[in-house]
Amino acid sequence: MQSFLPRRVRLALACVAAMHVATVSAQATPPIAPTISAPVEATFQRVLAAAAVKSALAAIEADDDRTLRDQIELTEIPAPPFNEAVRAAEYAKRLQVRGFTEARVDKKRNVIAVGKGSGNGPLLIVSAHQDTVFPEDTDVKVKPQGERYYAPGIYDDGRGLAALLSVVRARNATQIKTVGDVWFVGTVGEEELGDLRGVTSTCAPTGLPN
Ligand SMILES: [Zn+2]
Repeated sequence: MQSFLPRRVRLALACVAAMHVATVSAQATPPIAPTISAPVEATFQRVLAAAAVKSALAAIEADDDRTLRDQIELTEIPAPPFNEAVRAAEYAKRLQVRGFTEARVDKKRNVIAVGKGSGNGPLLIVSAHQDTVFPEDTDVKVKPQGERYYAPGIYDDGRGLAALLSVVRARNATQIKTVGDVWFVGTVGEEELGDLRGVTSTCAPTGLPN
């Protein structure tokens, strides 16, 4: 629920995998960093060293201005709990123009785009949530102040939505191929009484939600 964003936020694929980061108050105990096993660390370093990954990360960094524009424009579309339809339609459109012509809004109002893999690899879901905690009549106009931009929901999770689009552009630009499918999903119902219904249905073992 942070309401500001430093002008130059550096993106990394790793941060996209954890787009929704819980905010911790200054008084709270800081989270303990998880221990990373040696095989996982070695694999991570190998992936980071791959030429295609390096160029994808460079593409994401070079895309910073456009990502910020996406973030601002999406933030200014209200998406209060249980009322994400307008933002969902716009998000689907932005995925469609980036090559996912079959991107669609499902029955729960999740937006889903499928990047087909080449074989039988594991499914990877990259998601960010569309809804904000703020009620219907909240002023969502983004207000720049120096190099910071203030608006309800601009960080949580406007940044995630914009970062996901940047990953899609980097994927297109670098032609990274995955073995498993990758689902890019803008979920609903993350905040408050939403009960995580969007991401729960996305991760259900019944396959692609309809
Ligand atoms: Zn959130």
